[in-house]
Amino acid sequence: MNFQQATFQASYGTFSQLPPCIGMEIAFAGRSNVGKSTLLNKIFNRKALARVSAVPGKTATINFYRIAPVTFVDLPGYGYAKVAKTEKRRWAELIDGYLESDRDIQLIFLLLDMRHAPSRDDLQMIDYLVAQEMPFVIILTKADKLNQSQRKARMEAFAEEIPYFDEIHIIPFSAITREGVETIREVITELAEAEKMEK
Ligand code: GDP
Repeated sequence: MNFQQATFQASYGTFSQLPPCIGMEIAFAGRSNVGKSTLLNKIFNRKALARVSAVPGKTATINFYRIAPVTFVDLPGYGYAKVAKTEKRRWAELIDGYLESDRDIQLIFLLLDMRHAPSRDDLQMIDYLVAQEMPFVIILTKADKLNQSQRKARMEAFAEEIPYFDEIHIIPFSAITREGVETIREVITELAEAEKMEK
């Protein structure tokens, strides 16, 4: 797959605006400011295909990117405290609407900041994905911000904090060192290849 050929499709502010599903989708979810836009740009090897926000929590849209046969779905970052309740509700409706839809969602990458314990929203998301038996991979972002001993301590803590931790594919990631970039691309490529074989 040529990741650099990713194209931005469109942004949608409400679930009902989403275009029909045209094939396999891979979604990215996580708290606002977790580093989702930065990660997408690294995966696509592009400087600014996805917008990296100086003001966290501003992008409350679902953004679609595409490299055939995969549609990449960038879900709005959740859990940003400083927005109105009505706005939070709209975000929740977007995320829930998408996850509960009958679209061909083949994988969800859930991003967690490696420095911190998962938030209540993160844990709610994990519980939901497990309960719905949706395939997901956890990406631990900003790995460069921890030294070896901090990292070891955090990994031990995650094992306690995250249910079914041993059964979940965990990928540490850093936009600075590029750790994890190739692993994430391999996971995506494998799914895309399987899709092509089916056709
Ligand atoms: P989003 O809200 O999840 O899309 O987060 P952004 O991609 O906008 O990133 C939020 C902030 O974290 C920005 O200041 C980024 O530069 C920073 N950031 C993102 N990824 C990394 C990383 O891997 N390492 C470091 N040190 N900073 C990062």
